[in-house]
Amino acid sequence: MKPGSARSRSGNGVSRHAVEGGGGDEVTELLRAQLQQWWGYPGFRPLQKEAMSLVMQNRDSLIVLPTGGGKSLCYQVPALARDGMAVIVSPLISLMKDQVDTLQSLGIAAGCVNSMQTPEEKSEIARRIRRGELKLLYISPERLVQPRTLDFLRSTKISFVAVDEAHCISQWGHDFRPEYRQLKTLKQEFPGVAVHGYTATATEQVRRDIVEQLGLATADVLVGSFDRPNLIYRVERRVDAIGQIRRILSRHKGESGIIYCISRRNVEATSQALNRLGVKTLPYHAGLSDEDRRRGQDAFIDETAEIIVATVAFGMGIDKSNVRFVIHAEMPKSLENYQQESGRAGRDGLEAECTLLYSPGDVETWNYLMRDVEDEGVRTTSEESLRSMKQYCSSTQCRHRMLVEHFGQTLDGPSCGACDVCLKEMTEVTDALVVSQKILSGVIRQGERFGTGYTAQVLKGSKAKRILENGHDRLSTWGLLKDESETQLKHWIDQLLSQGYLRQSGEYNCLEVTATGRQVLKGQLTPTLLRVRQSEESDRREDSWDGVDRGLFEELRGLRTRLAVSRNLPPYIIFSDATLRALAKHRPSNAAGLKQIPGIGAKKLQDFGPVVLFEIQQWCRSRKIPTDVGFEGRSNSEEVMEQPQTSKSASDSVSSEYYDLFEQELSIEEIAVQQDTSLDTVSRHFVNWLQFQRRTDIGPWVSAAVQARIEDSIGRLGPEKLKPIFEDLRGEIPYHVLKIVVTVWELEQHE
Ligand code: ADP
Ligand code: MG
Ligand code: ZN
Repeated sequence: MKPGSARSRSGNGVSRHAVEGGGGDEVTELLRAQLQQWWGYPGFRPLQKEAMSLVMQNRDSLIVLPTGGGKSLCYQVPALARDGMAVIVSPLISLMKDQVDTLQSLGIAAGCVNSMQTPEEKSEIARRIRRGELKLLYISPERLVQPRTLDFLRSTKISFVAVDEAHCISQWGHDFRPEYRQLKTLKQEFPGVAVHGYTATATEQVRRDIVEQLGLATADVLVGSFDRPNLIYRVERRVDAIGQIRRILSRHKGESGIIYCISRRNVEATSQALNRLGVKTLPYHAGLSDEDRRRGQDAFIDETAEIIVATVAFGMGIDKSNVRFVIHAEMPKSLENYQQESGRAGRDGLEAECTLLYSPGDVETWNYLMRDVEDEGVRTTSEESLRSMKQYCSSTQCRHRMLVEHFGQTLDGPSCGACDVCLKEMTEVTDALVVSQKILSGVIRQGERFGTGYTAQVLKGSKAKRILENGHDRLSTWGLLKDESETQLKHWIDQLLSQGYLRQSGEYNCLEVTATGRQVLKGQLTPTLLRVRQSEESDRREDSWDGVDRGLFEELRGLRTRLAVSRNLPPYIIFSDATLRALAKHRPSNAAGLKQIPGIGAKKLQDFGPVVLFEIQQWCRSRKIPTDVGFEGRSNSEEVMEQPQTSKSASDSVSSEYYDLFEQELSIEEIAVQQDTSLDTVSRHFVNWLQFQRRTDIGPWVSAAVQARIEDSIGRLGPEKLKPIFEDLRGEIPYHVLKIVVTVWELEQHE
């Protein structure tokens, strides 16, 4: 199957072109308008449009897209375009919370039901559902299938059911959740309501299982490319793990990333070693208490901790979009795992680095860990998986190509431009034949009774005790490649192994020359050998940084953190890294410019527009650099940007003018008159300004007496809801004043 191509599997001849049939264009335009308005995204990602139109047509579907492919939008956008409420099944509270927070931050009416909620919160959600206020309801599978829930939902208008992380239903998948099995009854419980599954699973078996279990026999199945072009894959032989990790980290100062290890022990050791070197990391593994793990995960999400050292226990349940690197300090047990774990980097579509440090000993570690597996079948599968994994590590082929081919797809073009091989960080050895012959004859001279490390040592000319005892310092091959590093020699031996010129046998993995290896010795075949380029830093141009003012990017990142803290939300939900970079590149000076930045929809514009403009203006003014740069020739936008409206709507009048007025300590009322707008609008900007300035002295705007009265109410009723406070004060104080005092009260809590 070709990447990006869609395929339809159906019991009754439903074909793919039917997807876009009948009024498709209008529907597409409607979806596109929603995407622009709420998310501020100018266009669809591959297959999103097709996946969304299936939802619009009420046709069951299974959508397979890689992590970061944008699956959530495939159901969220149509949920807004359709009547009624969409029910979204999600396996983990953290995932639900993340998505609901994201949607709410965009101004979309979404909610969730979960076991962590208080009875009051639950009945509030029920009320909102009954009033038809919610467009999306997130729920766990076990709760959805409870008879009470089903009864309740049957009395409301359900637009469709989306099953996210649908592979959890399959016991063949990596995250099997028995509760998902109960979803079998969905099709009977809600006749006429379409069910849609979404997953990143690459295996055919799991996909078949999903279709069967969810009863989606007639569903359209769309499968996207598994390639993640923004991930830069590298493989290095592990010689000095901590040193190698540090070199990678030095390219990612202040950015988030994950370091995976096989065992708990190694997680602890690696984390401590890095901490001793002054690199702050947090360990994460199944041996820690629930509380510690939760704290670690939260710290990562909130960006109070940047680097997590973890076992595979860490990852599922985290949709953090700006993970900039994933390092495997040891080899994962399969390419499926590698794809999964490394795939947690770069969900936002910006470049991210995935480096795997391996040593052949990792295979033994895995074999050791699996020594107690009784099941013959499981054993064979895992041995095969390890073989493919090892092959990947020692290969001289494009990493992207190997990965997609492993999953039965192909990659177009000769070079991916995003792996160590294609970036020519590894250069081809020109006299590969001679070098190979030296290595292979070394193996033969040693009687084919020694492993990789030993062979490399002999070729290097080592005087190790064992070599002297064996008299191998007298072999003609001793020191034959003494100018090469031992690591380089081991690399080459791995490459000869992976190309089949050598094989390993016996308990000690002794090297033997194969039949094709002998042809090399006769000069009939020439292997490919790669040399790791000495300079570690590749001078690859990172396009997504082109034209970005890095200083301003850092400023905006700081602003994002402050906004996130004051709203108790993860920073990446406030703005994605992609949005910050676009801001630091185009440096808009007004609302019309802001609207053109991907990721700034109507609500973000309203909530954060003023502070962002203010920050940009300050930066550009003090450094005398231009604003509104390069808005025209924007590429990768499928549509012409909306022109700024001529009417003076609330969001259009967004500008840092307000901030100057607040600085002058003009009253809210005066400003409203001056700007010809409502008190609500002014006070909204005012609240933003207070948060931005972290200003808690509001003497010029609210008298001390009024402030004291309101604070007394907040003290008794809490700051969450304004209505009770309003009533408590007998309606004598207008809402906008309450909001201002609540903001200051919250700011003070965070001091
Ligand atoms: P998945 O569930 O497939 O792993 P998500 O739905 O979490 O992926 O999306 C990953 C990221 O990509 C999110 O930050 C999302 O906002 C962003 N994204 C999705 N679709 C688009 C789009 N059409 N344009 C720009 N960004 C998008
Ligand atoms: Mg997802
Ligand atoms: Zn490549």
